Amino acid sequence: MQADKRPSGPSRMRAADRTSYDVDCLIVGGGHCGLSVAAALKERGIDTIILEKNAAIGDQWRERYERLHLHHITDAMHLPGVRYPKHVPRYPSRLDLADYLAGYAQIHDLDVRRNHRVERLGVDEGGMWRAVVDDGAGERVFTACHVVIAAGSTGVTPFIPAIEGRDEWDGEVRHSVEYTNADGFDDERVLIVGSGNSAVEIACDLYDHGAKPAMLIRSPNSWITREAFAIYHRLLLIGGKILTYVPFAWLFAPLVLLILDRYLKHEVRQRYGDLRSKGVIPHATPPMRRMAETAARKPPVYIDGTWGDVGTSVFDLIREGEVVVYTSEIDRLVPASNTVVFQDGSRTDFDFVLLCTGFEPIAKHYATFIDRPVLAKLGRPGVFKIGDEIDGIPGLWLSLGGLSSTRFSQQVLAERIAAKIQDRPAPRRILSGATAFFFAGIDPGAFQIKKRAIVINAIATIALVGWLAAALIG
Ligand SMILES: Cc1cc2nc3c(=O)[nH]c(=O)nc-3n(C[C@H](O)[C@H](O)[C@H](O)COP(=O)(O)OP(=O)(O)OC[C@H]3O[C@@H](n4cnc5c(N)ncnc54)[C@H](O)[C@@H]3O)c2cc1C
Repeated sequence: MQADKRPSGPSRMRAADRTSYDVDCLIVGGGHCGLSVAAALKERGIDTIILEKNAAIGDQWRERYERLHLHHITDAMHLPGVRYPKHVPRYPSRLDLADYLAGYAQIHDLDVRRNHRVERLGVDEGGMWRAVVDDGAGERVFTACHVVIAAGSTGVTPFIPAIEGRDEWDGEVRHSVEYTNADGFDDERVLIVGSGNSAVEIACDLYDHGAKPAMLIRSPNSWITREAFAIYHRLLLIGGKILTYVPFAWLFAPLVLLILDRYLKHEVRQRYGDLRSKGVIPHATPPMRRMAETAARKPPVYIDGTWGDVGTSVFDLIREGEVVVYTSEIDRLVPASNTVVFQDGSRTDFDFVLLCTGFEPIAKHYATFIDRPVLAKLGRPGVFKIGDEIDGIPGLWLSLGGLSSTRFSQQVLAERIAAKIQDRPAPRRILSGATAFFFAGIDPGAFQIKKRAIVINAIATIALVGWLAAALIG
């Protein structure tokens, strides 16, 4: 704990009557986002403490289902300065990721307080942030001028739709967070509700272990293979460099995206055949465009259940009739039976309904520990302001993001916080994330144009305009 250590800048004004606080910046949550922003703050000389509820860094991944493999390649998701060890496959497993995060904290010597669940977070009369923590031995209070909430971006509170008849049904209804592996599912008929990554991977897992999975996919979707997703990420990696150094490169970025989108739109069909008659309906809008349109709200791009060249593909199973796809929603479960009745009137017997229905907006989790007055000012769930200090709540920052965008976005966030604490100008956002995506295909939230790129492009543009003007006048 550090006493009598004050930051400069606006926070000092608000906290002028205080004689001590614990640290410049508290971070709630030591996941991908929390750790990376902490490391970036440390590099900038900001004292930071991470409050993490789990007993070990990475436990949120260790606790997920065993088959889970990330759909990002390691090159696209490692945090700044620390690559994945050589033995980790291109698509890391949940355990590879958990160990990587623990190693990252160790390499940066981050001050992570484990078993420190933040029970309440609010502002005291002096304008200081106050986190009440239960560390198992009782309540403790941490104070700071700035707080970053990095308590999860998704995947925290399961979304469980109400299903009529559930309580009296003879089968069992579970959410994917309760699925570890196929033990106990031998030969069982399992209806998997949903078509996201978990749904697809769990379907493959169940099939591989002798169960009889079926899927309920109610709407068209954008499916691509994990390999294709890797192409997109590689393009981004190269594209970032090209955009920085090559004048006018951004002019071609939309074209590259368009070509990629054309390819991705038909990629699964080319590989697995036309599955529309089997219930797999591709979305009319190509994947990348959908990604830009629904940016940060809901990832619309899903994979096929394989990782690399390994493992079963759900699309092969669907094509061969091993996995049947239902397209009508569940109407009810018939009490004292195993029957599921669908809205189109059809009915089938199952032993399990496995809800791969995703998660509640992260705001629901925030509400479990953030004081009401602060919560009320946060904004609507899904449209939180990320990367900037929240309007009307000085010293509060939100850290959210997917695994590939984190390494960029958290650098920007840390730079803004450090600038505030050190009373110096902060970098300004030039384009919104979504606009950036349209122009350059860069992940929303990950975007910061490098000064070098602006200078190169500005000089090139002036030269071009000058040359054109001279040609016209001449
Ligand atoms: C099954 C599944 C697969 C996924 N696969 C991918 C993928 O392939 N690629 C991808 O980009 N994204 C994937 N995601 C989304 C992924 O979860 C996020 O992209 C990523 O974890 C965001 O990192 P984070 O740091 O915001 O959240 P998290 O990794 O969830 O970290 C939040 C941390 O905050 C801690 N915490 C929460 N509340 C408190 C509290 N009150 N007090 C103290 N500590 C607290 C948690 O214990 C946790 O350690 C997947 C999600 C799920 C559920």
